Order: sequence, then C-alpha cells, then structure tokens
Amino acid sequence: MLMMNEKDRIIEIYRRLKKIHDVPTFRKCSSFEALILTILSQNTNDNNRDNAYEQLLETFEKITPEILAGAEVETIRDAIKVAGLHNQKSARLKNVSQVILDEYDGSVDAILERPLGEAREILVGLKGVGYKTADILLLFHAGYLTLPVDTHITRLSKRLGFAPVTAKYEEIRKNFQKYLERSLLIYKEFHLLLIEHGRATCKAIKPACSTCILEDLCPKIITKKPKKSKKKS
Ligand code: SF4
Repeated sequence: MLMMNEKDRIIEIYRRLKKIHDVPTFRKCSSFEALILTILSQNTNDNNRDNAYEQLLETFEKITPEILAGAEVETIRDAIKVAGLHNQKSARLKNVSQVILDEYDGSVDAILERPLGEAREILVGLKGVGYKTADILLLFHAGYLTLPVDTHITRLSKRLGFAPVTAKYEEIRKNFQKYLERSLLIYKEFHLLLIEHGRATCKAIKPACSTCILEDLCPKIITKKPKKSKKKS
C-alpha cells in the first residue's frame, strides 16, 4: 500500500473515484419531497423508491404535508407498495407530515434553517428519520458540512481503514470528516462517489480488489469473519 498521510489518501481516493465514476445528479426537489423520498428509500433500491414516489404523486397529484397528513393511511400504503415495508412507511409518512404541519408551519425548511446541531436533533426526533436521512437533508438541502453514511459507505470506511470494523454511524462520519477537505462540493461528491464505488466494485460479497482503482491505497481490511467450517467428528 502507498505510504501517505490520511488527508492526502482521502483526497487521492476522491480524485480517483471521480475519474472513473460519473457523479450521479442529485434529484432536485423541495426539502419536504426529499424527506419523503428518503423515508421511501429505507431498505430498498433507488428504482423502487422512485416508483413508489411516482405512484404517490399519481394518487395525490401533489405531495405536501397537508395532503399526506390528511390522507387515509391505507391510500398511502397502497400507493407505495413497491417500496416494501409499506405498512410501516405509510404510517411514518402520515405521521411526519402531521408533525411538520403542526409544529413547523408545514415547512421542513423551518427546521433546516436552524443551527446544524439543533436541526439534526429535531430531524432525528421525527419518527422514521434516522441520522442518514437527517444528514442527507442537511448536506443536500441546507448546505451543512455533514457526511451521510449509508451501507456502502459503512463498508468502504472499514475496508479502507478509516474506521474500526466495529464502528457505528457517528464514528464513521466523524472519522471521514476529520480528513475530508471542508468543501460542500467535495462532501456531496464524496458521498455519492463512495456509494457508486460500493455498488460497482467494492461489493459486500467478493469485492473486486484486483481491478479496483483504489487497490494501492487500500489496506483491504476484512470486515466480516468467515464462517467457521464444521469440525469433523
Ligand atoms: S481494494 Fe478492495 S477492499 Fe479496497 S476499496 Fe477496492 S474493492 Fe474495496
């Protein structure tokens, strides 16, 4: 592995990933729509999330806190079936819409305008909103420097040696942020590029290390113990 300090290594990782992956365009939408999309995206892929969102739009014509808070939960559930966990997600969508309506004047922006720490705590206090959803809203819709960590980023952070194999969300986020250049563009692109690389190359099962552009920058730390073979009796 190439010897360099962590700051240089992370910027080199970013540069190389940018060379080989197109940075996906982040869907333009209101902060409320983004909140709905991120709840729909839990435990499913982007296609299912987008299909569920389209179905929701077809059912209600417009997606606003007023409309979802006033809708029958069954109608929401039927519209978002394709995203899976539709019973849970429909209840969350209705509930979060009601809270945004009652406590924040129908505007997620009223939360995002608050200081970073405060906004983050309010967001994770909403039922169905975790730190990843909160950080996506804070980075992409409020321009705060916070790095959302998804399942791909978790895996890469450990294999690349930026976080211990036992690290949880906050430790991973903070460890990356310690070395990442404090630029909004880099935060956004780094988040999206790591996900792309996790999907294309550094897959959960059988990462393609021999063809990976980060091979000489990566200690390839094993994140899962191989299953023990049964002892012969
Ligand atoms: S070298 Fe292997 S473990 Fe490291 S980032 Fe590439 S695919 Fe993942």
